[in-house]
Amino acid sequence: MRIVLLGPPGAGKGTQAKLMLERTGMVHISTGDLLRAAVATSSTLGRAAKGFMERGELVPDQLVTDMIRDRLSAMGAAPSFMLDGFPRTVVQAEALEKMLASRSIPLEHVISLDVPREELVRRLSGRRTCRVCGAMSHVTSDPTRRPGVCDECGGALYQREDDREETIRARLEVYDRATAPLITFYRGRGLLREVDGTGPTTDVLDRVMARLELAA
Ligand code: AMP
Repeated sequence: MRIVLLGPPGAGKGTQAKLMLERTGMVHISTGDLLRAAVATSSTLGRAAKGFMERGELVPDQLVTDMIRDRLSAMGAAPSFMLDGFPRTVVQAEALEKMLASRSIPLEHVISLDVPREELVRRLSGRRTCRVCGAMSHVTSDPTRRPGVCDECGGALYQREDDREETIRARLEVYDRATAPLITFYRGRGLLREVDGTGPTTDVLDRVMARLELAA
């Protein structure tokens, strides 16, 4: 199956992708994770992307599209994947469509996670990420057993630079301007599956799976 997870920052795309990975074994491709890894190693891509990411702006389409093209071409003939954080603009969506059409592997579903604005800000501003394994927690709604320490691997937690209040606002504005038009784009393709992204993560997962008609 080939899926795009769509939604504003904080909608739970990464969380749902990880839960779906456990249930379905589909490959999870997160452009945010790939870009953060590129920044951490200071690769050419990472150096080009760093400033945009710190400001909460989008990395230029060409850089991200090339990165995804490389990632997809490393997969087999009939890949099964979830794209998380890509596409984020109509230009990227059109590029993806061309990439997949050239290999006759069209997208099957676009899951759009719907979460009210105040809840997005609350989730993002309290979000903490593990430096070692990338696991996410929340200071009030999903705290780790020991403050500042990852439950999964014992690594140190940090607040992503772009999860600070001012940058969160910028990221949400970017979403409204550049990414929200993809809802209309994919609705027009008959691929959009809208899902309520509020409440416990496992409830959201059940709704997602039901929409994908994979539920037991
Ligand atoms: P995320 O972890 O998905 O919230 O992404 C973190 C940051 O990486 C975003 O705020 C952007 O700066 C950059 N980024 C991730 N995916 C994309 C994309 N598809 N297009 C442009 N920039 C992206």
